[in-house]
Amino acid sequence: MFEITANIHIHTAYSDGSKYHADIAMDAISAGIDVIFITDHNIYVDGLEGYFKNKNGKVLMIMGEEIHDNNATQQKNHLLALGAGESFAHLSQDRQTMIKEIQSAGGISFLAHPYDPELPAFNEPDISWEDWSVSGYTGIELWNGFSDLKVRAKNKLATYFYAFFPKFLPLSPPQKTFAIWENLLTNGMKTVAIGGSDAHAINFSVGPLNRLVFPYKYHFSSINNHILLEKELIENVIQDKNSILNALKRGTSFIANDLIFPSKGFKFFIEDDMTKIQMGESHPYTNGMTLTIILPIRSDCRIMKNGTLFRKFSGEREIKMNINSSGIYRVECYKHFLGRKRGWIFSNPIYLE
Ligand SMILES: [Zn+2]
Ligand SMILES: [Zn+2]
Repeated sequence: MFEITANIHIHTAYSDGSKYHADIAMDAISAGIDVIFITDHNIYVDGLEGYFKNKNGKVLMIMGEEIHDNNATQQKNHLLALGAGESFAHLSQDRQTMIKEIQSAGGISFLAHPYDPELPAFNEPDISWEDWSVSGYTGIELWNGFSDLKVRAKNKLATYFYAFFPKFLPLSPPQKTFAIWENLLTNGMKTVAIGGSDAHAINFSVGPLNRLVFPYKYHFSSINNHILLEKELIENVIQDKNSILNALKRGTSFIANDLIFPSKGFKFFIEDDMTKIQMGESHPYTNGMTLTIILPIRSDCRIMKNGTLFRKFSGEREIKMNINSSGIYRVECYKHFLGRKRGWIFSNPIYLE
């Protein structure tokens, strides 16, 4: 498998971000990102999908959109549509049809920041996902690099602190979002988890101080998605986009806060004599299966099975254990960073039927 790094959920100056596509692409190249997904609010910018290059490398930009119903009294239920090739904002009032149409167009969709509480100190409203009548979406945004601020900053002072020292912000996906994910998984819905930046790079003023906070470069070095592909990228936009969307659709990927330590090289698979089952894949359980976790550096790991803690390990680099029953298995890794134990890697599940 070939591992690539993708940064998902990026706003440009076409909505409420502060840079345009080409400049954002240059920031992504300097951060070593392979793929970026642009998702402006209710606008799909056509004609820019493709590879951007400079002397340091290249990045594939895939177009998407973050859609919500502008006319609703509360601006909740944001949906990320990725790679669908056109805008679906005209269907924002009929979310189920919208999800179906995105899929028919070859795109994938994720419920953005499912838990996103209000931040009264800044008059920011609750924009959680609330419409649980829908089905057929690809997954949820388990970790959102910007709404983390609303989850963790309880007052103005804390908000200023994180705005000026953003590396202190990412701690772990919110417990409420974990609960939403586990609930969907244990109810038999294969649900892919992604991490989103929700990058805006906004101007923030405190008295005479004015600063661009949460710059794109910060987001590209923090919450990323590491996607495992069957084939290497070949600089063919259509083929590369297809293989990336297919892997994301399955969930052959993991989320990582790469600020803590580069997560490249993390592996989690279950195998028997015949097959090796990767994240996002389903397979019948057979006797004598083993579960393997390989880490780029020692860390504390938890193996979750059907939503509850199955096994816990501390300070390991390689874990190998026998599995003796079916279930939904996933991995969480934690490391100390900036004075606290923080979430580092969150895998997608392996489904043993
Ligand atoms: Zn949103
Ligand atoms: Zn957003």
